[in-house]
Amino acid sequence: MKECKCEIFRDENGDIEYKCLKDFNVQIYSYRKTGKIQITFPDEIILTTYQSKKLDIIRGKTNEKSIILRSLKNGDNGKVTICVYINDSNNSMKIQICPEHQSFFVEHLFEKKRTRCTTSGILCEHLRK
Ligand SMILES: [Zn+2]
Ligand SMILES: [Zn+2]
Repeated sequence: MKECKCEIFRDENGDIEYKCLKDFNVQIYSYRKTGKIQITFPDEIILTTYQSKKLDIIRGKTNEKSIILRSLKNGDNGKVTICVYINDSNNSMKIQICPEHQSFFVEHLFEKKRTRCTTSGILCEHLRK
């Protein structure tokens, strides 16, 4: 794998659907109206972030649900970072999300080369370095 074959779609409501199916089997949905970002991983694992600092993880196979409340002081960086690795390879994927501002971006690491893949559009201050 040298470059990614990810796809991103935006509809007229501002909702975003991002798919990295070939290599990682990960999908990201951003729902503007509800302020939710939902990420689906292999093995029926679904992670949802909310603007309210709550996030939950559902393991579809066992129907287990974990709710995580992030405690942030005002002005703290509200970024959530998720790394996805594939077994037996040097390739990984990094998703950074700011739930409060509903923005995200994706990076890939292909054989130690880092590639910026996609963004949700405008990046808020928390995701800019
Ligand atoms: Zn990509
Ligand atoms: Zn932000």
